[in-house]
Amino acid sequence: MTAEQPGRAELLRDIRRILVRERELFGDALLIEPVQRREPMNKGVKSVQRSPADEPALFEFPAQPPPPLTDEAWGQSETLTALHDSICTCVKCPLGHTRTKFVFGTGNPAATLMVIGEAPGADEDAQGEPFVGRAGQLLNKILEAIGFKREDVYICNILKCRPPGNRKPLGEEVDLCIPYLRKQIALVRPRVILALGLTAAENLLSTTESLGRLRGRVLQYEGTPLMVTYHPAALLRNPNWKRPTWEDVQALRKLHDELVAKGR
Ligand code: URA
Repeated sequence: MTAEQPGRAELLRDIRRILVRERELFGDALLIEPVQRREPMNKGVKSVQRSPADEPALFEFPAQPPPPLTDEAWGQSETLTALHDSICTCVKCPLGHTRTKFVFGTGNPAATLMVIGEAPGADEDAQGEPFVGRAGQLLNKILEAIGFKREDVYICNILKCRPPGNRKPLGEEVDLCIPYLRKQIALVRPRVILALGLTAAENLLSTTESLGRLRGRVLQYEGTPLMVTYHPAALLRNPNWKRPTWEDVQALRKLHDELVAKGR
């Protein structure tokens, strides 16, 4: 036995463990066929590797000048805790009267990756924390599969309160709530945002493009790079979307690491 063999055995064990975990998550198809990248994803990721002179071309959507945040007192918050404390009794929209708990957000206040979903469901409303139900368990596995622990990232939603029966957020609810999210993004200052599902994507990007057209591209929210993938609840309903989600999150991880390495 050469000195190299114990290291190789350990490496093979690690590879096997990762493949078994990926098969649990994404099914057999992933193990049989190599992942084929979609053209737009290559395009988006490639643009990260341009020369410094070209760097503004990183994003496909030009940055819109952000509207003024607010002149309300919470806008002055300097920490997430202060922001939470000043908005957690919000009753600007009717959801404030029907919620059990205000679901602010959770995770690393200095996270380099911010994950944004739609709105709390029943489990989140009961516990006051985003993504703690079945979709949340799947999100944790997806994050683990690309080497993030739940506590490394910052997780929140477009809405802070549960819409009755988990219906889609209304435009008025989003308009009243999204300034809180903008403030959270300004405080966390993530290098990249992952939008889960079409509701998160369309409200952050002010677009009506389909999710199929938005995924695989490097977009931006007020200057922060943003990628879109399927919502984990949608994956629970339609396992065929697990494979494209896997492609999306691998591209996200690559973009994240490149931006972190560049210090951007
Ligand atoms: N779905 C979401 O979009 N957010 C949650 O917090 C839970 C489920």
